[in-house]
Amino acid sequence: MTAIASNLQAVKSAIAKAAHLAHRQEENIALLAVSKTFPSTAIRLAYEAGQTAFGENYVQEALDKMAELGDLPLEWHFIGPIQSNKTRLIAENFAWVHSVDRLKIAERLSAQRPQTLPPLNICIQVNISNEDSKSGIPAEETLKLALELAKFPRLKLRGLMAIPAPSEKFEAQRQPLACLHELMLQLQTHGLELDTLSMGMSHDFEAAIMEGATIVRIGSAIFGER
Ligand SMILES: *Cc1c(COP(=O)(O)O)cnc(C)c1O
Repeated sequence: MTAIASNLQAVKSAIAKAAHLAHRQEENIALLAVSKTFPSTAIRLAYEAGQTAFGENYVQEALDKMAELGDLPLEWHFIGPIQSNKTRLIAENFAWVHSVDRLKIAERLSAQRPQTLPPLNICIQVNISNEDSKSGIPAEETLKLALELAKFPRLKLRGLMAIPAPSEKFEAQRQPLACLHELMLQLQTHGLELDTLSMGMSHDFEAAIMEGATIVRIGSAIFGER
């Protein structure tokens, strides 16, 4: 077995264990393998070990790998900061975008999503720990943006994404994740049909599952240190 295959197996059993502890169904937690900086050969090994959804942060790097892996039925998620001159390539080549945090970017993605493809799945990135340096919209502005995004015909608003400030302690990890869940529940009371909480990375996915994550985005625990 390759290192990637055994890492994937270990991550999946840790997800199953966390789901069990949280009294949740394992099927309701999707694993997004974050492959940024790793070559297409690593993605191919993960695919052969059963993984089909991959997350990338840089457009050109992702397009190069897509070209090399065109023979495989993979689902690509864009999870990095979005420059407005890259929206067309994102709209044309990805199934999901987790990192939308402003209206202008959403407008462009909707206008540029090809008619031949299903609507682009979108999460709003929220700056849940209120960090100056981080991308993401402040929690208190999220409802307004969500109501706007829900109107775009070529986008399907699915939910919220966050990258909380890193913390070693389980209880400290849970707090911002719980806030993101709470925010999604609030948006749902305004009639928004959201089903996705994209939260949890290699160091905090167990806490994220405890707090209701439906997609965990895991890189280094699968592919190794970057
Ligand atoms: C890199 C990255 C991840 C994965 O991080 P790991 O710590 O390697 O698991 C998840 N989400 C986003 C947005 C990232 O940029």
